[in-house]
Amino acid sequence: MVQVDMQRHLWVPYSFEYESHDLIKMYRDMGKFELMALPYAPEALEPVISKETIAFHHGKHLATYVNNLNGLLEGSPLAGLPLEEIVLKADGGILNNAGQILNHELYFGQFLPCKRPEVERSGNPKSAPTGKLAEAIVRDFGSFEAFKEEFQKKGATLFGSGWVWLSADKDGKLVITQETNAANPIQKGLKPLLTFDVWEHAYYLDYQNRRPDHLAALWQIVNWEVIESRLSK
Ligand code: MN
Repeated sequence: MVQVDMQRHLWVPYSFEYESHDLIKMYRDMGKFELMALPYAPEALEPVISKETIAFHHGKHLATYVNNLNGLLEGSPLAGLPLEEIVLKADGGILNNAGQILNHELYFGQFLPCKRPEVERSGNPKSAPTGKLAEAIVRDFGSFEAFKEEFQKKGATLFGSGWVWLSADKDGKLVITQETNAANPIQKGLKPLLTFDVWEHAYYLDYQNRRPDHLAALWQIVNWEVIESRLSK
């Protein structure tokens, strides 16, 4: 059973099992797409993202996309291609499920635990990018604060389900784009660096309708070393 803070939750499941590790192993054994392993414990992002949200978002929503894609690829000429190639070549259900897997792998892979030792020591871990990424943000947005403001605004104002992205174009210029549903910036020839998921499943258990509050809180857990490494790839 899960400990539930009733102040924060209007509704919670009676109980849930965190089942994803069985799925990861099953797909690996079958040579199919696997549900990514999280690089942190399901409760590690609290209080920014609750364990319950992670359990549904990663263990149910993302697992369903993986399951769907593996089923749809059976007998398809796209079977066996890398995920990014499938996103660039597919349409319909294959594109939707492959796009969501790519989006979520970038999303879940970009966070750090809230209660990491650096936080306890200094109260402020690497809370901003450094090096080339920091320079490019200042060059293209004026300041880190101005970048965060524009990124949050584009996330808050995206109508319906989708994703807000920071990407680099072919010349290295940084751009913020809104992508609806399962779209990914690679479809526009961009290199995706950072993304916030604004589908309601990403925040509704914790923030209900307060999407802007959720977006503002996410900066606390961004792993800037991961974002910097995506830029230099
Ligand atoms: Mn999502």
